[in-house]
Amino acid sequence: MKRADPRRALPSVDAVLRAAGPRDAERARFTRAARDVLARARAAGASGDAATFAAQTRATLAERERLTLRSVINATGVVLQTNLGRAPLSPRALAAIAAAAGAVSVEYDLVAGKRGERHGHAARLLADLASAEDAVVVNNNAAAVLLALAALASRKEVIVARGELVEIGGGFRIPDVLRRSGAKLVEVGTTNRTYARDYAGAIGAKTGAILRVHASNFKISGFVARAEGRELAALAREHSVAFIHDLGSGTFLDTSRFGLGKELTVGEAIREGADVVTFSGDKLLGGPQAGIAVGRAESITALRTHPLMRALRPDKLTIAALLATLETYRDGTAEKELPVWRMIAATPRAIATRARSLAGTLASVGIPAEVIELRSTIGGGSLPEETQPSFAVAIGGAPANRLAQTLRSADPPVISRIVDERVALDLRSVLPEDDEVLARAVTGALAKGGADGPSRHQNGPRAGAGRPV
Ligand SMILES: *Cc1c(COP(=O)(O)O)cnc(C)c1O
Repeated sequence: MKRADPRRALPSVDAVLRAAGPRDAERARFTRAARDVLARARAAGASGDAATFAAQTRATLAERERLTLRSVINATGVVLQTNLGRAPLSPRALAAIAAAAGAVSVEYDLVAGKRGERHGHAARLLADLASAEDAVVVNNNAAAVLLALAALASRKEVIVARGELVEIGGGFRIPDVLRRSGAKLVEVGTTNRTYARDYAGAIGAKTGAILRVHASNFKISGFVARAEGRELAALAREHSVAFIHDLGSGTFLDTSRFGLGKELTVGEAIREGADVVTFSGDKLLGGPQAGIAVGRAESITALRTHPLMRALRPDKLTIAALLATLETYRDGTAEKELPVWRMIAATPRAIATRARSLAGTLASVGIPAEVIELRSTIGGGSLPEETQPSFAVAIGGAPANRLAQTLRSADPPVISRIVDERVALDLRSVLPEDDEVLARAVTGALAKGGADGPSRHQNGPRAGAGRPV
């Protein structure tokens, strides 16, 4: 005998809607979700009544509309975590964003009472801070590089050292960006060694620019040579082509003051003689996502007036946050005000004190916690392989992967790092004012015990992992 066709057993969309009784405002979304749920059931040969599918539809809709963009605590120890939005903004920048959110003179000249210049707001301060003639701001540094190449070297050749044909991540590859800009890539030198004479040998009538790209996320060591920025600037000048220097992170402060390697500052790159220096707003600068180009007036004007500019321009909130961030450099308060520099400047001693306090809080509610010493990184395509001493609270009592997952479901979610197979909360990337929220989030997620939390009957963290202090 033929078996009944299971599709017959499926209720209609209307029946599911009747069973669920969605609110008017969600009816259209609910209907779409119900259709998807029924289609999936049909494909799987499943059956069920209207109430079953109504519940499934509810669950599907809840999953689809789960809030995915949430404020989290970055306890990874990576100060500029690209996946966590890079530089956290300062209170001054946040206030500036709030103030600019309404009607604001973004393209209005208050003195003249007529249309003003969007690009003027941050340009003066940027140029002053960089000792450059002019500046322009776009959406991100990838856009700044694209714009510089398009404005200064479109349909021309651009000379790049083989060792600098880098991929930054997120699909930003220098050869691809070059192609998109309409410029033609000319590679010189070898992976490990490139001399000024290699550039000189490639320069000719078709050359539009020399491009130098910062090795932001890797380090080549050993038998290595590269041309000095000054040599490239002189060569570019001699042949009347542009010298574009993509600094990547870009910093106004000397990183070596914080026990880190020396990064060329924006001012130093300008002094070397680059026509255009580009960098990000949300890396070491410590501001909002933005791309900044500083340099010679003539070159910056070419960028500002290029047709691409309209598509790459920053919005008013970015301009406001960037200005507020730049003011801290002008006022000499960047180290004290900007979260990125506060984190980098935190002393191991201060971090250790906070870690001991957090470990004590966790232990007092039965969470096995121990302070360990480790090293943290800057991240975000800045200072590759440079680390800073830091302290973390290692949590035991359950497998690290499971603990890390439970912490991600905390409120707010806590993003941890795994050290020697243990979950560790590295306080280098947490601001002291967030310690209490962190403690509450962790205890809230773990102290309830149960399947998710660490068992209170197990021993504390395994000895030997990390370095207990
Ligand atoms: C990070 C980086 C970029 C891209 O900057 P975004 O602001 O992320 O667009 C480009 N070039 C270098 C060298 C970088 O380090």
